Amino acid sequence: MSLSRRDFVKLCTGTVAGFGISQMYNPAVLHALEKAAPNVLWLQGQGCTGCSVSILNSVNPKIADVLLKVINLGYQPTIMAGEGEVAFKHLYKVAKEKKGQFILLVEGAVPLAEAGRYCVIGEVEGHEYTMAETTAELGSMAAAVVSLGTCAAYGGIPASKGSVTGAMSVKGFFDKYGIKTPVVNVPGCPPHPDWMIGSLVFAIENGLEATVKVLDSVGRPTPFYGKNIHDNCPYLKYFDAGTMSPTFTKKDGCRYDLGCKGPSTNSDCPTRKWNGGVNWCVENSVCIGCVEPDFPDGKSPFYVAG
Ligand code: SF4
Ligand code: SF4
Repeated sequence: MSLSRRDFVKLCTGTVAGFGISQMYNPAVLHALEKAAPNVLWLQGQGCTGCSVSILNSVNPKIADVLLKVINLGYQPTIMAGEGEVAFKHLYKVAKEKKGQFILLVEGAVPLAEAGRYCVIGEVEGHEYTMAETTAELGSMAAAVVSLGTCAAYGGIPASKGSVTGAMSVKGFFDKYGIKTPVVNVPGCPPHPDWMIGSLVFAIENGLEATVKVLDSVGRPTPFYGKNIHDNCPYLKYFDAGTMSPTFTKKDGCRYDLGCKGPSTNSDCPTRKWNGGVNWCVENSVCIGCVEPDFPDGKSPFYVAG
């Protein structure tokens, strides 16, 4: 059932108890609703589409309400009905019409090897648009860019050891070519839906200047990435006592000896949890540090035999 705008406002102001942005950002979502929905364009580069899948699983608020009532999404390769040349022309049309006013979301890394041809994302009248070309052109026209996922934020798996594609993060790409548009990083493999929607809502509500002020040294919004996982882990008491779990499933022990990267990872996973607040990685496995700039190479091996 689709919510009316009024119902959605109620949801966002806390009549429905829940986790994540329903707790932290209800007032911000409400204020965002009172403003004109900003134009948002979403590019997908070198990635697995997992960030799109993650955001589509947003529990509270539902993604349909975000898409229809909070933002004006003009292009999203996974969910839009349009395709091919018509859709790609529309992408550029919106970008030109809303120059300096739209937010560009980028999912996936930007490959530069072989003139960027490892990732062609559209074709118009025989011209193949590479991810690099389109990210440069639309990134230069955007008011701000949000890099969704660790591939876009830091290069991630496409830029890991052995890569032949010359994959780069969006910020690294901008720095290389002198593109000055501000970039907000929302890493994760994939990022939590709350991190993506919450960061967008924070930027819409508070403006770019205030958003830049809450970023940490690697460009992440501190409301979501400001705490160390290990320091907030329910297994910390076992770590402090030196009690290590020999298996993923044994509950009364820390997972450090199994390869847990919580001590070198910053996010609110232990308190926010995933899948609507049901569970999180360390409950049944380990943290592999997916939100950090050195993921995956610096976090490998992910698992260690206990
Ligand atoms: S399970 Fe991981 S994050 Fe939790 S206390 Fe142990 S090492 Fe730290
Ligand atoms: S617990 Fe670690 S690996 Fe799991 S989502 Fe959070 S940061 Fe990523």
